[in-house]
Amino acid sequence: MKQVVEHQSDILVIGSGAAGLTLALHLAAKHQVILISKGPLAEGSTFYAQGGIASVFDESDTIESHVDDTLIAGAGLCDKQVVTYTAENAKDAMKWLINCGVAFDKEEVNDGDESSAPYHLTREGGHSHRRILHSADATGKAVQVTLQDQALNHPNIKVLERYNAIDLITTRKLNRPGNRVLGAYVWNRDKEHVESVSAKFVALATGGSSKVYQYTSNPDIASGDGIAMAWRAGCRVANMEFNQFHPTCLYHADAKNFLLTEALRGEGAFLRRPDGSRFMPDFDERAELAPRDVVARAIDYEMKRLGSDCVYLDITHKSAEFIIKHFPTIYERCLSIGIDITKTPIPVVPAAHYTCGGVMTDLHGQTDINGLYAIGEVAYTGLHGANRLASNSLLECLVFARAASQDIESQLHKHTTYPTIPSWDESQVGNSDEEVVIAHNWHELRLFMWDYVGIVRTDKRLERALRRCLMLQQEIQEYYSNFRVSNNLLELRNLVQVAELIIRSAMERKESRGLHYNLDYPQQLENPQPTVLKPDN
Ligand SMILES: Cc1cc2nc3c(=O)[nH]c(=O)nc-3n(C[C@H](O)[C@H](O)[C@H](O)COP(=O)(O)OP(=O)(O)OC[C@H]3O[C@@H](n4cnc5c(N)ncnc54)[C@H](O)[C@@H]3O)c2cc1C
Repeated sequence: MKQVVEHQSDILVIGSGAAGLTLALHLAAKHQVILISKGPLAEGSTFYAQGGIASVFDESDTIESHVDDTLIAGAGLCDKQVVTYTAENAKDAMKWLINCGVAFDKEEVNDGDESSAPYHLTREGGHSHRRILHSADATGKAVQVTLQDQALNHPNIKVLERYNAIDLITTRKLNRPGNRVLGAYVWNRDKEHVESVSAKFVALATGGSSKVYQYTSNPDIASGDGIAMAWRAGCRVANMEFNQFHPTCLYHADAKNFLLTEALRGEGAFLRRPDGSRFMPDFDERAELAPRDVVARAIDYEMKRLGSDCVYLDITHKSAEFIIKHFPTIYERCLSIGIDITKTPIPVVPAAHYTCGGVMTDLHGQTDINGLYAIGEVAYTGLHGANRLASNSLLECLVFARAASQDIESQLHKHTTYPTIPSWDESQVGNSDEEVVIAHNWHELRLFMWDYVGIVRTDKRLERALRRCLMLQQEIQEYYSNFRVSNNLLELRNLVQVAELIIRSAMERKESRGLHYNLDYPQQLENPQPTVLKPDN
């Protein structure tokens, strides 16, 4: 057997996006932290966030208004206490980021001291006020780069890059009394072996699971690992049927995950069928300016009806000068793959964008397992309900990371020793003989999730999807039990678990609400509740 390195720390933070970095930096003032990321440190949704972060800064704006906007977007399923807590703590969270050095855009001042100028606030769909702080159109990058720089230079933070957490270690799994987390097994991708981390507290900050769908705006890491690990360890998950789809992602073999901003439609771009005809006026009187979920559903309907791979976003009726001036990044990106958007309509598909559900937590990010926290997109806190209000997700990462850090801090003194945990046992497994099984199952899973559990669902589609999912699960589990782990195998094992949770949650909801749309139940129930799934173990 290869050498196994053991680690121990006060806190193990799994994930290095906004949520994980914020938690690590808060706790590292007094405690030892191990922070792991399965890819390069910056590779997570945080880095790609464009718009910004919602917070009440303007004098004419109020916390109540932020709360109301969030509740309206959440379509009757938000937890008002959580929404209020988040909105109330937003400003402090933003001040912390600013102190860390994130440079948010400010209003232009003609003369005088620029540093005292107010922050420039934008307004996004669903917000009744200007309340989005941003750093040009690359807010996530500014947050990620600033926080990770601090983490890399912090003496109390040990960063382990290219380490996949495989599974949590808990007292229950080891047949010890109670149910407390003790650490995790992690796969060192470069050395290709498993190491164990013993920790007094563990936080999942692993992001969402949008990669379960064939088309996604998310980076490759978004494979729902944290949700699957927590579920296997015995945590409840909630609202997994609410997946937000962005209507327009570039559809091209050479372009992965490239979003085409809604501002294109805002500036007059039309959506067209492959034969060139417009279709949005048939669906909504606001046509291309209808809300995100309406546009995504219309595109999905047309693609399924026509059996076409994509539809087209056409802005060629505007002058080339206007297009290049307003959309330079999109113009350059499309040109790099041979599409001149001043002359040719752009092929687009909707893409999975945000996971509203996740591991259930309380107001401190604490899950059902003692010592285990879930923060950021991996978590279900009750903030988003049936639909996420734009720019509330980075905010959730910041607010709940701080709340979790305070909760952990208040308990750390009770834990004087590191938990003892067994090493990973791979004596029963061999080298994989048929990698094609993994590649095939990856493709199959993401395709049936897209076709049957995507933007528009029916009972029949969900049943079909569940049958396929359970079959794949069995096959993948067999593979996992017999062969050494790899990144693709680990992600696939998690994705097929998350897929089942999404399908089962969607089957439980007998109505259409927010992001969940089932043709067999177009109506809304009078007294909607979150969908909560509980593992059998
Ligand atoms: C294109 C795009 C634009 C967006 N724009 C906005 C916006 O303007 N405003 C807004 O509020 N939100 C926006 N969002 C959503 C927002 O970016 C995310 O919800 C948020 O960044 C999630 O942060 P996180 O820390 O939870 O996870 P992430 O930033 O996704 O980080 C996840 C981390 O977990 C690690 N990880 C995952 N699995 C494992 C494992 N098994 N082992 C070890 N490490 C693991 C990854 O390596 C990564 O470091 C956008 C999202 C996208 C994709």
